[in-house]
Amino acid sequence: MKLILASGNRGKLREFREAFGPGLLSFSELMEPFEIVEDADSFAGNALIKARTIYDRLGPGHLVISDDSGISVPLLGGVPGIYSARYAGEGADDKANLRKLIEELKKRGARRTPAYYTAAIAIVGEKGEYVVHGWMHGDVIDEARGEKGFGYDPIFIPEGYDQSLGELDEAIKAEISHRAKAIELAKPIIGMLQRKF
Ligand code: IMP
Repeated sequence: MKLILASGNRGKLREFREAFGPGLLSFSELMEPFEIVEDADSFAGNALIKARTIYDRLGPGHLVISDDSGISVPLLGGVPGIYSARYAGEGADDKANLRKLIEELKKRGARRTPAYYTAAIAIVGEKGEYVVHGWMHGDVIDEARGEKGFGYDPIFIPEGYDQSLGELDEAIKAEISHRAKAIELAKPIIGMLQRKF
């Protein structure tokens, strides 16, 4: 059973390979990358769209894992949430999205305010579809600190820490992140689906 990640995002691929080993392939290594319209209204819905789309192309013998994730800031009404990847507009990159969130915080005069990351992981194979979630709580700040991680990490300070995920050792993120928590829940499901039925 081949394990495929329905994402070309390098940051995510790195984190998933830590958990599932180098045998995990990105779908972009098997086919020309193409656009998947993620038009559901939840992380879980969008994760399922991605995993189903790739599974439909690859078929039996493959187990497709996808991650839909983002950051939510309650002070801003929960945005960017499911729109995290396109907060600064369609096709915006991580840097532009980060800048936009910093701008919005500055507009409110919010130097530091609560925020949380959500990850929904969908697993789609011939034996069915599954979704698990993980969350990481903390604060966002109005200036980027550090170069580690990706996306919004330079402004996210996890609960119980003084440094941002841009500054903290990546091994710490690998233990406490939304994705790490969802991956822990996904592991037994993937283990089960890889067994002979
Ligand atoms: P997706 O690839 O459509 O799920 O979009 C995820 C969005 O949330 C991207 O903008 C990411 O940069 C952001 N994001 C998700 N997880 C993380 C994380 O662990 N650190 C930083 N940004 C993240």
